[in-house]
Amino acid sequence: MIVLRGSGELGRLEALRENAPLVLVPTMGALHEGHLTLVRQAAVHGQVVVTIFVNPTQFGPGEDFAAYPRDLDEDLRLLAGTPTVAVFAPAVGDVYGRPGEVTVRAGRRAEGLCGALRPGHFDGVLTVVAKLFGMVRPSLALFGRKDAQQCLVLEQMVHDLRLPVRLLDVPTVREPDGLAMSSRNRYLDAGQRQRALCLARALAAGRACLADGQRATAAVEAAMRAELVAADSVDYAAVRLLPELEMTASIQDGRVLLAVAARVGPARLIDNLALRVERGAVMEAGLMGGGDAAGT
Ligand code: AMP
Repeated sequence: MIVLRGSGELGRLEALRENAPLVLVPTMGALHEGHLTLVRQAAVHGQVVVTIFVNPTQFGPGEDFAAYPRDLDEDLRLLAGTPTVAVFAPAVGDVYGRPGEVTVRAGRRAEGLCGALRPGHFDGVLTVVAKLFGMVRPSLALFGRKDAQQCLVLEQMVHDLRLPVRLLDVPTVREPDGLAMSSRNRYLDAGQRQRALCLARALAAGRACLADGQRATAAVEAAMRAELVAADSVDYAAVRLLPELEMTASIQDGRVLLAVAARVGPARLIDNLALRVERGAVMEAGLMGGGDAAGT
């Protein structure tokens, strides 16, 4: 596993590129089993390049950029136990430099949910991912379904800017009790960790509602919100149509996203579930490329 600590070292990827396609897994570090699952899935498709970069432009004022956990040595130790061939861990100055730089502005899929509550967040995500695509030039990149809107916004960028990279979304990796793994779970004490389970419970409640035949969005959202009383505040508990994330008053056959965001103690947490509703049956679905659930 080679470790590239600056953009000046990216030339070392060229020798690798001749062997097999490069597959990118962008992360902000503080790695957990969710990230490592992405890496193992990526290795099925080629040589895995993991980037570790806490991207300042996707954090808003008052968000946790300064507090975000950073432990490169521990991340490298974890990645050494995976099929990763290269880690790119640039400094901020390697990625951003000149005032007045070109940035990417997210499109329609970024208008609601986290996009509405975190102005500029998805512009920052798209800008850094576009830069990482330019620097690493992967054939394929993998992203987690936990960040469902991020997957969809990225898919729109790749399509609209005609970027020569394929994207895959990977199912959310959960703790045994259902909590979606997240670097931000480290902010939680034991009591908050227990209360954080309400996000997964909210998704399960929404899914159960749909499985019982409920098709009124307001009723499904109310069932989700009822579980979120354990949170300190709720940003949203929403049903949206996939893949464009439009609102809908009633749910027809097709794919929908159940999406929740809530604050528990110091952490703002999100969780998502993509479902396919078909003739009374409700099954898990994927996000990108038409929503094949396999995610590989
Ligand atoms: P982050 O370091 O939080 O920016 O995440 C890097 C990548 O890992 C993103 O594509 C996330 O969606 C993905 N990811 C984070 N948590 C999970 C999880 N619990 N399961 C699957 N993928 C995840």
